[in-house]
Amino acid sequence: MKIDTLLLFLVLNTSGLIAQNNNLNRSEPNLPDIPGYKTILADFHLHTVFSDGKVWPTVRVDEAWEHGYKAIAITDHIEDHQYRKYIAFEGNLNASNKIAQREGERQDIIVIAGTEITRAMPPGHLNAIFVKDVDKIATHRVKSFFNKNPEATLVSIIDSIDHHHKDYMESLLEARNQSAFIFWNHPMLFTPEGEKLELPDVHKDLIKKGLIQGIEVADLGHYHPEAFQWCLDYNLTLLGNTDLHDPYHIDDATNPLERRNATLVFTADITEQGIKEALENQRTAVWVNDMVIGKQSFLEPLVRASIAFDKPHFIDENRTRYIKITNNSDFKFHIDSDMIEEKTFLDFLTLNPNSSQILKIPENEAALKMTILNFQVAPEKPLTLFIKL
Ligand SMILES: [Zn+2]
Ligand SMILES: [Zn+2]
Repeated sequence: MKIDTLLLFLVLNTSGLIAQNNNLNRSEPNLPDIPGYKTILADFHLHTVFSDGKVWPTVRVDEAWEHGYKAIAITDHIEDHQYRKYIAFEGNLNASNKIAQREGERQDIIVIAGTEITRAMPPGHLNAIFVKDVDKIATHRVKSFFNKNPEATLVSIIDSIDHHHKDYMESLLEARNQSAFIFWNHPMLFTPEGEKLELPDVHKDLIKKGLIQGIEVADLGHYHPEAFQWCLDYNLTLLGNTDLHDPYHIDDATNPLERRNATLVFTADITEQGIKEALENQRTAVWVNDMVIGKQSFLEPLVRASIAFDKPHFIDENRTRYIKITNNSDFKFHIDSDMIEEKTFLDFLTLNPNSSQILKIPENEAALKMTILNFQVAPEKPLTLFIKL
């Protein structure tokens, strides 16, 4: 085909085939499913210009598409309307959810309606997702504050609301009434660096009442081992979200060298209802940088589904078997094992995403004991498993 004919073909062809999102390429994640459940990437904490974020709600859907996420929740603060002067959404706190949900339908991304209930500590910030009507979750106190101070920001409302006033209970009970899933956001945000936070009594009480069902164990690149331990102690759902305010690529806390952290959801079916059921039954793990954090019951099948061992292709004069190990996933594995000979100059072997290596294993070993250093089943406790050879 001559160049001008090709150009003509391309010009004519655009009229018939139009990309939905300006040819934005999705990097399709390679995540193995585990027995009985599909594995998906989700981010349940995102802001837009309808609170203190800097993007229109549809941008969150574009980002989810681009990064290979299957589900997101829009969680604008009820108590922060930075741009209300410029965006007429008075009396409708559901606007950002509705705009993003419409775009989600176009791009086949599940957009969950949510909101962030925002107070000083305790209880700090709490997200309610799968909500039906955010207007009803705003307390009378907050509504009347905004009516009197139409240009109020988050800071002014935090300053003006008595920290010890329990009006947030009104929001939480209404969210519960709407059968929302409620979790505690960025638990360490208000704790000075280096200081240890004990689980506050207020939170223990909310957990007991079912008004906290999960905790963000990671938020935008930061992992909180204390929060992981609380989730294990109280059987809460682990969440790893971003809390993006800026566009992803310019967000302050985004390190372009690291991947966007995610909540891995193990869901029976990829629907909003399926995801809700998974969250309510603690079927999640957290992916932050190279680390995966979660219960052994999910991490072990995830690793088994990711790694394949070939039969030995060579046995040398010392009876050492040469076996190809393949990582069929986007996870990275830092593997420690006494049984693997000549690992590297490091103490452990790094198996990169979607790659293979050859292991040398003595013939007398029937099973390979492996510790995956970057897969943690409790704080400082890496996953150990046995692979039958
Ligand atoms: Zn927050
Ligand atoms: Zn937030």
